[in-house]
Amino acid sequence: MMCPVCGREFMPDAPAQKYCSKECRGKSWYRRKKLRREMPELPVRANDMMDAVANLWHAANALGELSRASDPATSALAGRLASAVWRALDEEGLR
Ligand SMILES: [Zn+2]
Repeated sequence: MMCPVCGREFMPDAPAQKYCSKECRGKSWYRRKKLRREMPELPVRANDMMDAVANLWHAANALGELSRASDPATSALAGRLASAVWRALDEEGLR
């Protein structure tokens, strides 16, 4: 399965394991805490929101990779999309 924090594939040791490492579990906890503090109107959905935000990080990283593709059309589109996603995350303090 894929770790929702770092995007790495890993084999869980237990069925309920969600993160690849203690470090990623801690990071996720810290980010959820931060989100709850900054957006108190989202207390119940904060975990779902953080998972969705993690998907955005993965998407931005994947687009960053694609922006180094050799064909110019792929590279340009991926570059613009990656910047847009990072900018949105920056504006919300979620990078
Ligand atoms: Zn991880």
